[in-house]
Amino acid sequence: MTQTELRTALVSGANFAGLATAFWLKGLGYRVTIVETAAGVRRGGTPVDIKGETVGILERMGLLDRAWAKRLPPRAFTFRGADNETLGAIDHTAPKDRTHDFEIHRDDLLDLLLDAVDGSVDIIYDRSIVRLQEHADQMSATLNDGSRHDATLVFGCDGNRSNTRNLVFDDGDAASYFMGGYFYLKVVRETGLLPPDTSEVFSVPGRTAMLNGYDDRTDICLAFRADSEIAYDYRDRARLRRLVHEHFDGLGWKVPQMLSHVDDEEDFYFDRATQIRMPNWSKGRAALVGDAGYCVSPIAGMGGSMAIIGAARLADALAQHADDHAAAFRAYEDGLRPFVEEVQTRAATEGMAVIFPASAHELAERDRKIAANEIAL
Ligand SMILES: Cc1cc2nc3c(=O)[nH]c(=O)nc-3n(C[C@H](O)[C@H](O)[C@H](O)COP(=O)(O)OP(=O)(O)OC[C@H]3O[C@@H](n4cnc5c(N)ncnc54)[C@H](O)[C@@H]3O)c2cc1C
Repeated sequence: MTQTELRTALVSGANFAGLATAFWLKGLGYRVTIVETAAGVRRGGTPVDIKGETVGILERMGLLDRAWAKRLPPRAFTFRGADNETLGAIDHTAPKDRTHDFEIHRDDLLDLLLDAVDGSVDIIYDRSIVRLQEHADQMSATLNDGSRHDATLVFGCDGNRSNTRNLVFDDGDAASYFMGGYFYLKVVRETGLLPPDTSEVFSVPGRTAMLNGYDDRTDICLAFRADSEIAYDYRDRARLRRLVHEHFDGLGWKVPQMLSHVDDEEDFYFDRATQIRMPNWSKGRAALVGDAGYCVSPIAGMGGSMAIIGAARLADALAQHADDHAAAFRAYEDGLRPFVEEVQTRAATEGMAVIFPASAHELAERDRKIAANEIAL
């Protein structure tokens, strides 16, 4: 029996990668089920850049006009010194048309993707795959409620700590590349710390504080370098807050006001800066899409775009090799890997050095480049 006759897909994760993958698979004639571990689509977080190839993909998905209508105003990006003096700036405020890069709130893009699959794919919330077995012509998945789902193909779209990756490749944390730092992120109501539509960055060696201002909210980002990984339980929120204080107490600029938001009970995001570097993105009838297979890290500013690009490239490969999933997965990986590796390398080198300078030397070099207008973000 050929794949074109079977056409069922099980997708793990209902975020950018999962929803975009489901959209395209549906268009290729697959019956699609998404399994999402959270009780609903997980919202929140900082805006997403719609960059490069993603613009054309949203157009192909019929979503570009609605995404463009929700775009955020272009922002001015300023590097500050301890006395709030301007070290240099990158101005993104020139008028653009809808074929250019733009920013959109994470939740607005999620709503568009959800709407695009609404009614045409099944989403099972509060569930996770606990077992995957490959057979000659299909995969059998057992969910954590004991139910069994058979599918021709399985797609791991479940983020940088991917469950599917663990089940299929069983590689523990081996794919996770530690970039040498940690970051704290919190979205709060407008703080008055900076004007809307601007971003400001203040760095000392090994520590960076960044503010993104919007009309109704401010992102507070605090990032610090670490030579090796720090042991902590991610559920121990008090310990994570202490870690932030240990690295930022006593710093000047607007850091004291930023720290005042660290101690309230509202939720925040804290993680190590990592990339996922897998030798292969597929095995048998399972393939990884987005952060699960090739997380480029928040430093790259491309996580959302990369997930959407990955889903479209995968769909193109499946359309081209409709009866041969192995050939399709190879074409998907061969086509996309060079771009992913380029973005990962840039983020781990220049990206870290600009946003997150490790030493006095790296900071001085960054400031020189800023003053000479040699940095483009
Ligand atoms: C709530 C949230 C907030 C974020 N905020 C930011 C941010 O502010 N800045 C930034 O740079 N990046 C952020 N990210 C990461 C960013 O969305 C991704 O880098 C990028 O969009 C790639 O998307 P993805 O779909 O591959 O992975 P993700 O966006 O991580 O989505 C993975 C999905 O899989 C689900 N999942 C996880 N485990 C399982 C499992 N066992 N079974 C089923 N489903 C599972 C998750 O709940 C999630 O919905 C955030 C992600 C989430 C989920």
